[in-house]
Amino acid sequence: MKKLQQLPEAWQVCLDLAVEGYNAGSMGIAAVIVDKAGNIVARGRNQLRDDKDSCSSIRMSSVAHAEINALNNLPQEYREDRELTLYTTVEPCPMCLGAVAMSRIRAIEIGCADPHAGSIVMLEHNEYLRGKNIAVEYAGGEVEKLCFLLHYLSIRRDLSHNPGHRIFKALARRYPHYVQAIDAVLERDESLHRGDITTEFLYYASARLG
Ligand SMILES: [Zn+2]
Repeated sequence: MKKLQQLPEAWQVCLDLAVEGYNAGSMGIAAVIVDKAGNIVARGRNQLRDDKDSCSSIRMSSVAHAEINALNNLPQEYREDRELTLYTTVEPCPMCLGAVAMSRIRAIEIGCADPHAGSIVMLEHNEYLRGKNIAVEYAGGEVEKLCFLLHYLSIRRDLSHNPGHRIFKALARRYPHYVQAIDAVLERDESLHRGDITTEFLYYASARLG
């Protein structure tokens, strides 16, 4: 796989923050907002379950999602800017998609799909959201693999592994090969992801996703 350092800067920062979130006990999900010139102007990570000092100002709350934190951290001078792009490691949930629609941001780059809570489909079916003309791109490739890995490990840790649970079923339907490969890695050595995720583990697991 490509080294993290070879990925675009927005994704490097997102993945570093997502790992920080996972290791702190929250979900491994992060977001950044980038201006037209490519500068990162705001960042946020999921901070549902930890109060650690981080870029996120909203913590220990059901709304402490990565995208909400990034939007909340957007400096005042960028709040009317219509040429910003939000990068998020996981497809936004209804709350975060709604929050993006209420901002001036009209472009979203997504690391991996979320077949459980992801709500990009709302952009087509809701007239208000459709009128916002939000452009969506999926990263694919290595970025998708790494983002899904962190998302899947977060859910596995939170729900304990139960393949019959509807969330696991939805993930396995959308990403059958990745789910199978990650489960195989963990079956061989569960200790690999007990505790913190290291960069070495990310490379090791991601290389096995094919
Ligand atoms: Zn959300």
